[in-house]
Amino acid sequence: MKIHEYQAKRILAARGISAPLGRVAATADEAAAAVRPLIEESGSPVVVVKAQIHAGGRGKGAFKEHPDVRGVNVVAVGVDDGPAAAEEAVRELAEKMLGGALVTIQTGEEGKVVNRLYIEQGVDITQELYLAVLLDRAASRNIVMASTEGGVEIERVAEEAPEKILRAEIDPAIGLAPFQANELAHGLGLEGDAAKSFRRFVAALAETATDLDTDLIEINPLVVTSHGQVTALDGKMAFDDNALFRHPDIAEMADETEEDPAELRAKSADLSYIKLDGTIGCLVNGAGLAMATMDTIKHVGGEPANFLDVGGGADADQVATGFEIITSDPNVKGIFVNIFGGIMRCDVIAEGVVEAVGRVGLDTPLVVRLEGTNVEAGKRILKESGLDLVAADSLSDGAAKILELTGGAPG
Ligand code: GDP
Ligand code: MN
Repeated sequence: MKIHEYQAKRILAARGISAPLGRVAATADEAAAAVRPLIEESGSPVVVVKAQIHAGGRGKGAFKEHPDVRGVNVVAVGVDDGPAAAEEAVRELAEKMLGGALVTIQTGEEGKVVNRLYIEQGVDITQELYLAVLLDRAASRNIVMASTEGGVEIERVAEEAPEKILRAEIDPAIGLAPFQANELAHGLGLEGDAAKSFRRFVAALAETATDLDTDLIEINPLVVTSHGQVTALDGKMAFDDNALFRHPDIAEMADETEEDPAELRAKSADLSYIKLDGTIGCLVNGAGLAMATMDTIKHVGGEPANFLDVGGGADADQVATGFEIITSDPNVKGIFVNIFGGIMRCDVIAEGVVEAVGRVGLDTPLVVRLEGTNVEAGKRILKESGLDLVAADSLSDGAAKILELTGGAPG
């Protein structure tokens, strides 16, 4: 699960990790009202207005409706103009940003609608660094990644100058060791106060990752201020969904407007659904069989449109919902239902399929392979329904048939 920048910064600040002061705003009035206290606290007339979406690249991204407005805007007014001028400038920006679609390299060309802004104290930056704690699945540990190349995408640094990325593995028993924090500070070329401030920052960040079961904490950029302190100018956090039950306060931060509607619907029906880029929709029971089904479709030259596991104990209604989710994907050219009835009975699946087609219709080829408990009853239900479907005898037979019916392998 991802959260917004303002939420991540709140979590960091509560743990004593430095981030600029800021206020969240859902209306232009709230945005304007945030300005004065921030200016008074910092004594600097600079504030930054940042769109809150679950996607990066905001600084370079622009609004569809206002191509001159970016996702991150630095508002600086003359010291003599006073806070009122800054308030007006922020209000004007907020009116353009709120409700608008922000397009960045991570959003796709339709962009993402901005519902909230973060109004933040401007920071006097002397250096932009990159810092992240992420799960290294190969090492089965969290690692710290740091680089002097802050403010740019780390994937690009990894490609063009991999030697500029520093790594440190976090031992789960002892955490990030002081010598590791030291080595990282040294590797980044930090000295004096900045090095000291960085060591404290990275140690607290590593501890946060372990405590909160994050998949990723990315601070890009981590900046060195003119006062020689490091602070999180940006903050991205993603949490391990399977550990969210341990953090109910974080689970509450989920923003459903940021989630894929189909995945949201699947979640509320208790189905495991992940959308993929292919054309063959798959409705399967059991994660293992779902994987095997996707592999087999790929093996015969097709591309699965999704992963969908209806689980062991689904009822006909859940199956129908799964079917509807698959058919609502415009990329789907054909559907392969592959069921091995164990706890899940084939007749229940058959009822679900018939119910779903009754509800949403069927305008793509459908291949069904049923095996296991109550298979005869299931086949009878499908046959008597008069549904236009193709029966398959095995997994590979089904994969071959759906591929053929959807026009063969692409290319
Ligand atoms: P992203 O583009 O979505 O990753 O958004 P960031 O929060 O990383 O902001 C993008 C860029 O805006 C940063 O790399 C900075 O260069 C700039 N920026 C953000 N806040 C400030 C600020 O307070 N002062 C100044 N001078 N620049 C800022
Ligand atoms: Mn950033």
